Amino acid sequence: MKIGFIGLGIMGKPMVRNLLKGGYAVVVHDIAPAAVADVAAAGAVAGGSSLATAAQSDVIVTMLPDGPDVDGAVLGAGGILEGARPGSIVVDMSSISPLVSQKISEACAAKGVGFIDAPVSGGEPKAIDGTLTIMAGGDQPTFDKVVPILQKMGSSVTLTGPVGAGNVTKLANQIMVACNIAAMGEALVLATRAGLDPEIVFNAVKGGLAGSTVLNAKAPMVIARNFKPGFRIELHEKDLRNALLAGESMKVSLPLTSLVQQMLISLMNEGKGGLDHSAIVTFIERMAGIEVKPPGK
Ligand code: NAD
Repeated sequence: MKIGFIGLGIMGKPMVRNLLKGGYAVVVHDIAPAAVADVAAAGAVAGGSSLATAAQSDVIVTMLPDGPDVDGAVLGAGGILEGARPGSIVVDMSSISPLVSQKISEACAAKGVGFIDAPVSGGEPKAIDGTLTIMAGGDQPTFDKVVPILQKMGSSVTLTGPVGAGNVTKLANQIMVACNIAAMGEALVLATRAGLDPEIVFNAVKGGLAGSTVLNAKAPMVIARNFKPGFRIELHEKDLRNALLAGESMKVSLPLTSLVQQMLISLMNEGKGGLDHSAIVTFIERMAGIEVKPPGK
């Protein structure tokens, strides 16, 4: 089975490397030539365009920023659907609106092309390790065909429902991660203002009920003042926007999501959109006029 892979950013590059390590032949494309050269050096073949990549592949994976990017790459002129053969399968692993997943799936079905939405959680470290958490939407027979491929990139692969369900699950995940980081920020700012060492506070609470994967991954970054992405603030703002739009379409109130999205917009206006989402903490620091760091540093 030959795999096409389109979108070679922070996530796409290590995911391609794991497919290559897993023995798959991978044809790749990105609008950034340097990204293509990077994975070509690891054994991938440059496809040249989305159309040509799809024409050479049985399964075409997309890992692009947002819905409009995936819509353009799959349905646009010179896109995947113009090159894909009937019987091939598009697996979109980007985090996008479930409504866009459903629209793209219908267009694929009209050409006899299968579709699975399969967004991921775990960020760059787990993309590198091949231990992403993958939440998929689609029909069982199509899902079963692509599971062996997904298992080369992730350690947990779950079909959560029909097309769009993967992205609904991912939006639920993103709400929990964003609110967790904001809560961690308030907690560490309070502790720092009280004169405590945030690292000691982190170590004291991490084994208790407040302990979490988010806390373990992000508190050390905040304390070290290391906001290198990781997962960029502007991408998390996009996810919360998609969650709020989905909530609105179903008449579901998401007050905490809305509040953290406002923080993210403010940070983007400060020029921090490219920082890791752990920098949400800097919004709370600004309100308190204090930085989370050990006393005396
Ligand atoms: P990124 O911006 O680093 O990479 C996106 C890549 O897509 C870039 O290399 C860009 O040049 C390319 N691209 C954009 N439009 C294109 C097009 N039309 N054709 C071909 N290539 C195109 O983003 P990322 O961090 O790798 O994230 C990708 C997706 O994964 C996003 O939806 C994001 O929300 C999601 N995600 C990211 C993380 C993370 O920690 N970075 C974690 C989980 C999920």
